[in-house]
Amino acid sequence: MTEKTLCPYCGVGCGLEVLPPAQPGKSVHRDSEGNPIWQVRGDRAHPSSKGMVCVKGATITESTHKNRLKYPLLRDSLDQPFRRVSWEEALTRLTDEIKKVSLTHGADGICMYGSGQFQTEDYYTAQKLLKGCLGTNNFDANSRLCMSSAVAGYMQSLGSDGPPCCYDDLEQTDCAFLIGTNTADCHPIVFNRLRKHHKRNRDVKMIVVDPRKTKTAEAADLHLAIKPGTDIDLMNGIAHLLLRWGKFESIFIDECTKGFPEFVEVIKQYPPELVARKCGIRIDHLEEAAQYWGDSERVLSLWSMGMNQSSEGTAKVRTLIDLHLMTGNIGKLGAGPFSLTGQPNAMGGREAGGLAHILPGYRVVKNPQHRAAVEQAWGLPEGRINPNPGRDGWDMIRGLETGEVGLFWVAATNPAVSMPDIERTKKALLKSNFTVCQDAYYPTETAGYAHLVLPASQWGEKTGAMTNSERVVTLCPAFRNPPGEAKADWEIFAAVGRRLGFEKEFNFANAAEVYQEFVGLTRDRVCDLSGLSHQRLREEGPIQWPCPEGETETISSGKRLYTNLHFPTADGRANFAGYHSRGLAEPEDENYPYVLTTGRLYGHWHTQTRTGNIPKITKMHPYPELEVHPRDAKKLGLEETKEEIWVEARSRRGKARLRVKITKAIAPGTVFIPMHWGALWADDAEANALTHPESCPSSKQPELKACAVQIIPINKP
Ligand code: SF4
Repeated sequence: MTEKTLCPYCGVGCGLEVLPPAQPGKSVHRDSEGNPIWQVRGDRAHPSSKGMVCVKGATITESTHKNRLKYPLLRDSLDQPFRRVSWEEALTRLTDEIKKVSLTHGADGICMYGSGQFQTEDYYTAQKLLKGCLGTNNFDANSRLCMSSAVAGYMQSLGSDGPPCCYDDLEQTDCAFLIGTNTADCHPIVFNRLRKHHKRNRDVKMIVVDPRKTKTAEAADLHLAIKPGTDIDLMNGIAHLLLRWGKFESIFIDECTKGFPEFVEVIKQYPPELVARKCGIRIDHLEEAAQYWGDSERVLSLWSMGMNQSSEGTAKVRTLIDLHLMTGNIGKLGAGPFSLTGQPNAMGGREAGGLAHILPGYRVVKNPQHRAAVEQAWGLPEGRINPNPGRDGWDMIRGLETGEVGLFWVAATNPAVSMPDIERTKKALLKSNFTVCQDAYYPTETAGYAHLVLPASQWGEKTGAMTNSERVVTLCPAFRNPPGEAKADWEIFAAVGRRLGFEKEFNFANAAEVYQEFVGLTRDRVCDLSGLSHQRLREEGPIQWPCPEGETETISSGKRLYTNLHFPTADGRANFAGYHSRGLAEPEDENYPYVLTTGRLYGHWHTQTRTGNIPKITKMHPYPELEVHPRDAKKLGLEETKEEIWVEARSRRGKARLRVKITKAIAPGTVFIPMHWGALWADDAEANALTHPESCPSSKQPELKACAVQIIPINKP
């Protein structure tokens, strides 16, 4: 029987159809090692992907049976080997540790670090356990490293989180402005849809802003290879020209926004000569970009990590939204500021309260009415939810360093590779009193620092909902059994909650009941999903929110937010920001003369827990390379030969040894390293050995995209 589901890799959220390995009259479908595996193809009926699928989605079942964790494992200290234990022993030990740490450190001594790989039911149950029952807001997720600046930017400028656009806008726009996103490699199906539209319509323009000439930039009409950290200068420079040329929407600005006069005072300070010099681009290119913005009826912006992973990430996002507000490019067909999420269900996490400062239904912990609404829904006494945001991901690492965190529970993610300043992260993990690693896979770099390892079931082995970047919710059904004794993440969280005495709060018979409770908390909010249920999603297929209770028509795509030009702020107006750029937290200098930028490669996914086991993908990128411009290569004495060239990249925090790729795709003065290789996959080649943890003060998202390095030629190790 064919099952319809969602690709569990990136936030594009492509629909998949999976079929059992054996089909009548056909040979059994097998992976490269001869294991029978489920077949995968794109789901033509899925509104977001229309049957398209990239190499990751197409090969997903080649990895899901490899390196699986089947049983709980326990050890008393990190120098001991693990021993297999029963779930009973594992959960008893975990709840004993939680009780102990609650007494020694208080509730805030407990932290959980989750993942955009969670289904919404996992997210909801986890944050309910921490925020509602244990009384700490220390639940954060790896989405903090991915899109928390987008969340903060939307909230501050528009009054609420939630991307206002949809994928249909990719085919309706006159001008696509892609900034800080290598969409072709990282969100391939979004890029396919945009690229087709761009190719078919000569008048449609594509501007790409990126220090690297990526595949995305190659397809653009205009590529602005700005110096890292000058995004705000560039966008203010575009706004300056639009103002000078009178190309702004006065009626929209007057009726729907506030703060425009103050914004004008800021952008007046960005004349083209200054901006071009700061950004390292030509003045006529800056003017061309402004002209495309000014002449287009519908401008759609796409962005991801290049904007978000910055010590001024929120300011960058808000400056981009300023451009949209100035030109009235929001709430209409083919236009708007559209954040692309990295992970498959980072959006579901945002809806379900999956970060340390938010609560379900796009509520925030600082707001007393929001806390009261959630406490009431959970049947908890008033004042139970802490009014202060909990620790963000990096703050949890700092808490391990100082001993303020007594229990660190990691689920479905691999911070021993993905956190900034990885040597400092690893030292902090070594100091941890008790670390739990709950994952589908073993070994992982993080499991090497755990005392207790819990086996989780994953995609295809549990039923749950996921929301993609365009707010389309898809039910992902279980179609095969989990290996060994693995359990769904939400079941593990609920079991711990019940053992801690919260029987009633975690009395869920199945994931559908969890989802039902969750959607009730979204009623009348911007992210209103109260009309959804597992049953409805199963019967009707993917549905886009807002989907309030009572809305019975199945709308699976094409919905936009703010089409009435009324924003969810106190006065209904969107807020101009008007930021000046502070630049990079760690700019290049005499001792560290290059700016390192990090990123992703087509095919690979995060820390390779899955994609590292797929031959088709590992053949494309068998090892990490440091990209350097030919001019810099010459300065460094690196000459292209048939032999491998090696360098050591050094920052103030650590070093990485890599092969070199000399390419004009990277701007002079900048080098690039992919972020996928942790200690299990390559010796000494971790991008995060070099990065620093300085983060955006508003979103707490670290500046993983840029740090200063020196490059030293070395012999092949
Ligand atoms: Fe999966 Fe993203 Fe590829 Fe779509 S674009 S198939 S969601 S990895």
